[in-house]
Amino acid sequence: MDLGIAGRWALVCGASKGLGLGCAQALVREGVNVLIVARGAEVLEAAAMQLIADSAGSTYASVLFCAADITTPEGRAAVFAIRSDFDIVVTNAGGPPTGDFRSWDRDTWIKAVDANMLTPIELIKATVDGMAARGFGRIVNITSSAVKSPIDVLGLSNGARSGLTGFVAGVARSPLAAQGVTINNLLPGSFDTDRLRGNMQGAATKSGQSVEALADVRRQDIPAQRFGTPEEFGAICAFLCSTHAGYITGQNVLADGGAYPGTF
Ligand code: NAD
Repeated sequence: MDLGIAGRWALVCGASKGLGLGCAQALVREGVNVLIVARGAEVLEAAAMQLIADSAGSTYASVLFCAADITTPEGRAAVFAIRSDFDIVVTNAGGPPTGDFRSWDRDTWIKAVDANMLTPIELIKATVDGMAARGFGRIVNITSSAVKSPIDVLGLSNGARSGLTGFVAGVARSPLAAQGVTINNLLPGSFDTDRLRGNMQGAATKSGQSVEALADVRRQDIPAQRFGTPEEFGAICAFLCSTHAGYITGQNVLADGGAYPGTF
Protein backbone atom coordinates (compact mmCIF):
# COMPACT_ATOMS: atom_id res chain seq x y z
CA MET A 1 0.00 0.00 0.00
CA ASP A 2 1.33 3.43 -0.91
CA LEU A 3 0.90 5.53 2.23
CA GLY A 4 0.76 8.72 0.18
CA ILE A 5 3.28 10.65 2.27
CA ALA A 6 6.44 10.54 0.15
CA GLY A 7 8.12 13.93 0.17
CA ARG A 8 6.51 15.04 3.44
CA TRP A 9 8.72 16.27 6.29
CA ALA A 10 8.67 14.49 9.66
CA LEU A 11 10.17 15.37 13.02
CA VAL A 12 10.82 12.17 14.97
CA CYS A 13 11.93 12.63 18.58
CA GLY A 14 13.88 10.14 20.68
CA ALA A 15 14.93 8.47 17.47
CA SER A 16 18.52 7.28 17.92
CA LYS A 17 17.24 3.82 18.89
CA GLY A 18 14.19 1.87 20.01
CA LEU A 19 10.64 2.83 19.08
CA GLY A 20 11.53 6.31 17.79
CA LEU A 21 14.09 4.85 15.41
CA GLY A 22 11.52 2.23 14.32
CA CYS A 23 9.12 5.05 13.43
CA ALA A 24 11.80 7.01 11.55
CA GLN A 25 12.76 3.87 9.60
CA ALA A 26 9.19 3.17 8.57
CA LEU A 27 8.67 6.77 7.46
CA VAL A 28 11.93 6.95 5.51
CA ARG A 29 10.99 3.75 3.69
CA GLU A 30 7.82 5.57 2.58
CA GLY A 31 9.93 8.36 1.11
CA VAL A 32 9.33 10.77 4.00
CA ASN A 33 12.12 13.26 4.81
CA VAL A 34 13.01 13.05 8.49
CA LEU A 35 14.71 15.16 11.11
CA ILE A 36 15.64 12.86 13.99
CA VAL A 37 16.44 14.03 17.50
CA ALA A 38 18.15 12.46 20.51
CA ARG A 39 20.60 13.69 23.11
CA GLY A 40 23.73 11.67 22.31
CA ALA A 41 25.33 12.89 19.06
CA GLU A 42 27.35 9.76 18.32
CA VAL A 43 24.50 7.20 18.48
CA LEU A 44 22.19 9.66 16.72
CA GLU A 45 24.60 10.12 13.84
CA ALA A 46 24.95 6.34 13.49
CA ALA A 47 21.14 6.08 13.40
CA ALA A 48 21.01 8.78 10.71
CA MET A 49 23.54 6.81 8.63
CA GLN A 50 21.38 3.71 9.04
CA LEU A 51 18.33 5.67 7.89
CA ILE A 52 20.18 7.01 4.86
CA ALA A 53 21.02 3.41 3.93
CA ASP A 54 17.34 2.46 4.47
CA SER A 55 16.20 5.29 2.21
CA ALA A 56 18.42 4.21 -0.69
CA GLY A 57 16.27 4.00 -3.78
CA SER A 58 13.76 6.57 -2.52
CA THR A 59 13.51 9.67 -4.69
CA TYR A 60 12.60 11.86 -1.77
CA ALA A 61 13.78 10.89 1.68
CA SER A 62 16.41 13.22 3.18
CA VAL A 63 17.69 12.56 6.67
CA LEU A 64 18.72 15.35 9.03
CA PHE A 65 19.65 14.98 12.68
CA CYS A 66 19.87 17.28 15.68
CA ALA A 67 21.52 16.27 18.95
CA ALA A 68 19.32 17.97 21.55
CA ASP A 69 17.36 17.36 24.72
CA ILE A 70 13.81 17.68 23.37
CA THR A 71 12.46 18.20 26.90
CA THR A 72 14.14 21.62 27.18
CA PRO A 73 13.16 24.92 25.49
CA GLU A 74 16.77 25.18 24.20
CA GLY A 75 16.59 21.70 22.70
CA ARG A 76 13.32 22.46 20.93
CA ALA A 77 14.67 25.82 19.71
CA ALA A 78 17.68 23.99 18.20
CA VAL A 79 15.32 21.65 16.35
CA PHE A 80 13.05 24.40 15.07
CA ALA A 81 16.07 26.45 13.97
CA ILE A 82 16.69 23.69 11.41
CA ARG A 83 13.10 23.72 10.17
CA SER A 84 9.65 24.24 11.62
CA ASP A 85 7.17 23.39 8.86
CA PHE A 86 6.79 19.70 9.65
CA ASP A 87 3.90 17.71 8.16
CA ILE A 88 4.40 14.88 10.65
CA VAL A 89 5.60 15.00 14.26
CA VAL A 90 6.31 11.91 16.34
CA THR A 91 6.73 12.97 19.96
CA ASN A 92 8.87 10.76 22.16
CA ALA A 93 11.42 10.97 24.94
CA GLY A 94 12.80 8.57 27.49
CA GLY A 95 10.30 7.22 29.97
CA PRO A 96 10.56 8.18 33.65
CA PRO A 97 12.25 5.82 36.13
CA THR A 98 10.37 3.11 38.00
CA GLY A 99 10.10 3.32 41.79
CA ASP A 100 7.97 3.76 44.89
CA PHE A 101 5.81 6.91 44.85
CA ARG A 102 6.86 7.62 48.45
CA SER A 103 10.35 8.44 47.26
CA TRP A 104 9.30 10.89 44.50
CA ASP A 105 9.60 14.55 45.41
CA ARG A 106 8.26 17.53 43.51
CA ASP A 107 11.36 17.79 41.30
CA THR A 108 11.02 14.15 40.26
CA TRP A 109 7.39 14.73 39.30
CA ILE A 110 8.15 17.96 37.44
CA LYS A 111 10.82 16.15 35.41
CA ALA A 112 8.39 13.38 34.43
CA VAL A 113 5.58 15.81 33.60
CA ASP A 114 8.01 17.95 31.60
CA ALA A 115 9.28 15.02 29.53
CA ASN A 116 6.12 12.99 29.02
CA MET A 117 3.35 15.57 29.08
CA LEU A 118 4.53 19.16 28.56
CA THR A 119 7.13 18.41 25.87
CA PRO A 120 4.61 16.74 23.51
CA ILE A 121 2.20 19.61 24.21
CA GLU A 122 4.91 22.18 23.34
CA LEU A 123 5.72 20.29 20.13
CA ILE A 124 2.03 20.16 19.19
CA LYS A 125 1.66 23.87 19.96
CA ALA A 126 4.65 24.73 17.77
CA THR A 127 3.53 22.77 14.71
CA VAL A 128 -0.22 22.24 14.38
CA ASP A 129 -1.22 25.71 13.20
CA GLY A 130 1.26 25.49 10.31
CA MET A 131 -0.07 22.03 9.49
CA ALA A 132 -3.64 23.33 9.53
CA ALA A 133 -2.72 26.25 7.25
CA ARG A 134 -1.21 23.76 4.77
CA GLY A 135 -4.20 21.41 5.12
CA PHE A 136 -2.31 18.30 6.25
CA GLY A 137 -0.76 17.25 9.53
CA ARG A 138 -0.11 14.17 11.59
CA ILE A 139 0.90 14.09 15.24
CA VAL A 140 1.68 10.72 16.81
CA ASN A 141 2.57 10.72 20.50
CA ILE A 142 4.41 7.65 21.75
CA THR A 143 2.88 7.08 25.18
CA SER A 144 2.42 3.71 26.92
CA SER A 145 0.00 0.86 27.53
CA ALA A 146 0.34 2.01 31.16
CA VAL A 147 -2.18 4.75 30.31
CA LYS A 148 -4.86 2.06 29.88
CA SER A 149 -3.44 -0.50 32.25
CA PRO A 150 -1.34 1.22 34.93
CA ILE A 151 1.74 -0.48 36.36
CA ASP A 152 2.33 0.42 40.03
CA VAL A 153 6.09 1.02 39.83
CA LEU A 154 5.58 3.22 36.76
CA GLY A 155 3.51 5.80 38.64
CA LEU A 156 5.44 8.72 37.13
CA SER A 157 4.66 7.43 33.65
CA ASN A 158 1.03 6.59 34.49
CA GLY A 159 0.46 10.08 35.84
CA ALA A 160 2.32 12.25 33.32
CA ARG A 161 1.11 10.34 30.26
CA SER A 162 -2.51 10.35 31.46
CA GLY A 163 -2.28 14.15 31.55
CA LEU A 164 -1.10 14.17 27.94
CA THR A 165 -3.86 11.73 26.97
CA GLY A 166 -6.52 14.03 28.41
CA PHE A 167 -5.08 17.04 26.60
CA VAL A 168 -4.91 15.19 23.28
CA ALA A 169 -8.50 13.98 23.63
CA GLY A 170 -9.58 17.63 23.63
CA VAL A 171 -7.25 19.25 21.14
CA ALA A 172 -7.66 16.48 18.52
CA ARG A 173 -11.37 17.35 18.39
CA SER A 174 -10.79 21.09 18.08
CA PRO A 175 -11.19 22.86 14.69
CA LEU A 176 -7.84 21.28 13.73
CA ALA A 177 -9.77 18.09 12.93
CA ALA A 178 -11.51 19.81 10.01
CA GLN A 179 -8.22 21.23 8.74
CA GLY A 180 -6.55 17.92 7.91
CA VAL A 181 -4.65 17.58 11.18
CA THR A 182 -4.92 14.33 13.15
CA ILE A 183 -3.51 13.82 16.64
CA ASN A 184 -3.27 10.31 18.04
CA ASN A 185 -1.41 8.45 20.76
CA LEU A 186 0.37 5.17 20.04
CA LEU A 187 0.58 3.00 23.16
CA PRO A 188 3.37 0.42 23.28
CA GLY A 189 2.99 -2.65 25.46
CA SER A 190 6.25 -4.62 25.72
CA PHE A 191 8.66 -3.93 22.88
CA ASP A 192 12.15 -5.29 22.63
CA THR A 193 14.24 -2.13 23.15
CA ASP A 194 16.99 -0.92 25.49
CA ARG A 195 14.31 0.63 27.69
CA LEU A 196 12.55 -2.73 28.20
CA ARG A 197 15.86 -4.51 28.77
CA GLY A 198 16.93 -1.81 31.27
CA ASN A 199 13.68 -2.10 33.23
CA MET A 200 14.02 -5.88 33.32
CA GLN A 201 17.65 -5.63 34.41
CA GLY A 202 16.49 -3.46 37.32
CA ALA A 203 13.78 -5.97 38.26
CA ALA A 204 16.27 -8.85 37.96
CA THR A 205 18.77 -7.17 40.28
CA LYS A 206 15.98 -6.53 42.81
CA SER A 207 14.52 -10.06 42.70
CA GLY A 208 17.75 -12.04 42.30
CA GLN A 209 16.34 -13.74 39.18
CA SER A 210 18.05 -13.68 35.80
CA VAL A 211 16.89 -11.22 33.15
CA GLU A 212 16.14 -14.14 30.82
CA ALA A 213 13.96 -15.87 33.45
CA LEU A 214 12.02 -12.64 34.01
CA ALA A 215 11.69 -12.06 30.27
CA ASP A 216 10.28 -15.58 29.85
CA VAL A 217 7.64 -14.97 32.52
CA ARG A 218 6.74 -11.65 30.95
CA ARG A 219 6.44 -13.15 27.47
CA GLN A 220 4.13 -15.86 28.83
CA ASP A 221 1.80 -13.13 30.15
CA ILE A 222 1.32 -11.76 26.65
CA PRO A 223 -1.19 -13.61 24.42
CA ALA A 224 1.22 -13.21 21.47
CA GLN A 225 3.87 -14.90 23.67
CA ARG A 226 6.57 -12.50 22.54
CA PHE A 227 7.73 -8.90 22.71
CA GLY A 228 6.94 -6.54 19.87
CA THR A 229 9.63 -5.20 17.56
CA PRO A 230 10.45 -1.55 16.80
CA GLU A 231 9.77 -2.37 13.11
CA GLU A 232 6.19 -3.42 13.91
CA PHE A 233 5.70 -0.30 15.99
CA GLY A 234 7.12 1.91 13.24
CA ALA A 235 4.75 0.41 10.67
CA ILE A 236 1.72 1.32 12.80
CA CYS A 237 3.07 4.83 13.26
CA ALA A 238 3.64 5.23 9.52
CA PHE A 239 0.05 4.12 8.83
CA LEU A 240 -1.30 6.68 11.34
CA CYS A 241 0.76 9.29 9.45
CA SER A 242 -0.57 8.18 6.08
CA THR A 243 -3.19 9.83 3.91
CA HIS A 244 -5.39 6.76 4.53
CA ALA A 245 -5.58 7.51 8.28
CA GLY A 246 -7.09 10.97 7.83
CA TYR A 247 -10.32 9.93 9.58
CA ILE A 248 -8.55 8.60 12.69
CA THR A 249 -8.02 11.28 15.31
CA GLY A 250 -8.06 11.58 19.08
CA GLN A 251 -7.45 7.85 19.43
CA ASN A 252 -5.28 5.75 21.71
CA VAL A 253 -3.93 2.94 19.58
CA LEU A 254 -2.69 0.06 21.68
CA ALA A 255 0.02 -2.28 20.36
CA ASP A 256 0.60 -4.90 23.05
CA GLY A 257 0.24 -8.40 21.58
CA GLY A 258 -3.17 -8.72 23.25
CA ALA A 259 -1.89 -8.07 26.79
CA TYR A 260 -4.69 -5.64 27.73
CA PRO A 261 -7.56 -7.90 28.75
CA GLY A 262 -10.53 -5.58 28.13
CA THR A 263 -13.13 -5.83 25.37
CA PHE A 264 -12.48 -2.20 24.34
P1 NAD B 1 14.79 3.57 24.37
O1 NAD B 1 15.46 3.89 25.66
O2 NAD B 1 15.16 2.33 23.64
O3 NAD B 1 14.97 4.81 23.35
C1 NAD B 1 14.64 6.11 23.76
C2 NAD B 1 15.13 7.11 22.73
O4 NAD B 1 14.77 8.41 23.16
C3 NAD B 1 16.64 7.11 22.54
O5 NAD B 1 16.93 7.46 21.21
C4 NAD B 1 17.08 8.24 23.47
O6 NAD B 1 18.34 8.77 23.12
C5 NAD B 1 15.96 9.23 23.23
N1 NAD B 1 15.75 10.20 24.29
C6 NAD B 1 15.54 9.93 25.61
N2 NAD B 1 15.38 11.08 26.29
C7 NAD B 1 15.48 12.08 25.37
C8 NAD B 1 15.41 13.50 25.46
N3 NAD B 1 15.21 14.09 26.64
N4 NAD B 1 15.56 14.22 24.35
C9 NAD B 1 15.77 13.61 23.15
N5 NAD B 1 15.84 12.28 23.01
C10 NAD B 1 15.71 11.53 24.11
O7 NAD B 1 13.23 3.60 24.71
P2 NAD B 1 11.99 2.95 23.90
O8 NAD B 1 11.76 1.59 24.42
O9 NAD B 1 12.16 3.20 22.46
O10 NAD B 1 10.78 3.83 24.49
C11 NAD B 1 10.33 5.02 23.90
C12 NAD B 1 9.22 5.57 24.77
O11 NAD B 1 8.17 4.59 24.85
C13 NAD B 1 9.67 5.83 26.22
O12 NAD B 1 9.03 6.97 26.69
C14 NAD B 1 9.19 4.59 26.96
O13 NAD B 1 8.97 4.83 28.30
C15 NAD B 1 7.90 4.30 26.20
N6 NAD B 1 7.51 2.89 26.35
C16 NAD B 1 8.29 1.89 25.90
C17 NAD B 1 7.87 0.57 26.06
C18 NAD B 1 8.70 -0.60 25.57
O14 NAD B 1 8.29 -1.75 25.78
N7 NAD B 1 9.82 -0.41 24.94
C19 NAD B 1 6.65 0.29 26.70
C20 NAD B 1 5.87 1.35 27.14
C21 NAD B 1 6.31 2.66 26.96
